[in-house]
Amino acid sequence: MGDVMTEIVLRADMMLVPAGVVKNAELAFESCTDDGRRGGGRITYAGPARAGSMVTHDLAGHLLMPGLVNGHTHSAMTLMRGVSDDEALMPWLETVQGLERHLTHEDVEVGLQLAMLEMIETGTTAFADMYHWDSALLELVRDAGMRVLAALAVSAPEAVAFPRVSPWNGAEAIAETEALAARYASDPQIRIAYGPHTPYTCPPAFLREIAERAVRFGIPIHTHVSESSGEVEGILAAHGAMPGDYLDSLGFFEAEVHAAHCVHLSDSEIELFARAGASISHNPVSNLKLGNGIARLPELMAAGVRLALGTDSAASNNSLDLFEEIKLAALLPRGVRQDAAVVPGADVLEIATAGGSAAIGFPEAGALSVGCLADVIALDITGASATPLEAESIRSHAVFGATGADVRHVFIGGRHVYADGAHLTLDAAAIRDRARAARARLREASA
Ligand SMILES: [Zn+2]
Repeated sequence: MGDVMTEIVLRADMMLVPAGVVKNAELAFESCTDDGRRGGGRITYAGPARAGSMVTHDLAGHLLMPGLVNGHTHSAMTLMRGVSDDEALMPWLETVQGLERHLTHEDVEVGLQLAMLEMIETGTTAFADMYHWDSALLELVRDAGMRVLAALAVSAPEAVAFPRVSPWNGAEAIAETEALAARYASDPQIRIAYGPHTPYTCPPAFLREIAERAVRFGIPIHTHVSESSGEVEGILAAHGAMPGDYLDSLGFFEAEVHAAHCVHLSDSEIELFARAGASISHNPVSNLKLGNGIARLPELMAAGVRLALGTDSAASNNSLDLFEEIKLAALLPRGVRQDAAVVPGADVLEIATAGGSAAIGFPEAGALSVGCLADVIALDITGASATPLEAESIRSHAVFGATGADVRHVFIGGRHVYADGAHLTLDAAAIRDRARAARARLREASA
């Protein structure tokens, strides 16, 4: 009882819809007064303002657009932000793991909540994550109101990934993945994936077993592939194949695969991803920061590979503001190819919204269209950096001019989670305090 379906009606100066830009726009959607467990929250109208509508929120001076989707992160690693800002992948990993070793379950909780604070504040409504996950952590995502594709990170069957967080080894984490997938099977906010860490940290028999189970149970796989040239050389030396081809030989692409990075794919690996319908999260900031290279976005797009944009963790970024990834993803290929037309900004925005949403298992979100889930953000467009602004250039403003700091409102599945700069589902000050304390304790423990 008590979950009354009501309608929320937003008015805004402009709105990005698949067909273009609506001026003097109205967006209406269902809202459940409960926590969204029953679903709902679908868009009922997206178009010009109608006479006689009961407007719930008059967002004059705002742009409405779909919520952004973070295709790859490790949320709890917000606690490791800035611990290693000038090191390459392997020494970086060593520094980060020096702290990670001491993580407790409470640390993972607060790290996740800190990540959700930042993601919501910067307009992200859904994310794909690989770390320790269990039902207590998933319930925190539900409470915050976000959507997640959560993968339990594993390396070897006998390896315990997070000793102080959970006693599970790889084999137990696989069993837990399947139990969580069954438990959350029809959940509108939560999807579960296997999380084999990389093709070089997991033994081949384990990768083959995960691929078989993924097909049998219909559970997707979220993994890292071809992040660095060192990884490619290592896999070539050990298995005589490129990482993608090696995974293919283990039956990986029979399953639904969502791969992070894919910086160093060959032409035939790109074709393999396209043919298999596998998706890739392009994470340009992390790839640049760790000195790993630049993924071949134009080739991936031309081949029709399903794409998302991701930040990777705050430890290799250091921000979870997806607007930075959008701008950089659009700019990098232009510089590399010396061609300003090679990747249109609108295409990158599509990847960061509808593309990413479909790639991480929420195909009904990502666009402001009737029938879609109401995952919508409102950006302030009254500031100097958004002036002057015409309807014709508002979409490229979202790509090249906007930042996460412009986000003022966030609705997810029709639920208002961020209102005029204030969190409605998370206690921001308390989370930031707990995160500072957790970091201090981790520093002390690892000294
Ligand atoms: Zn990663």
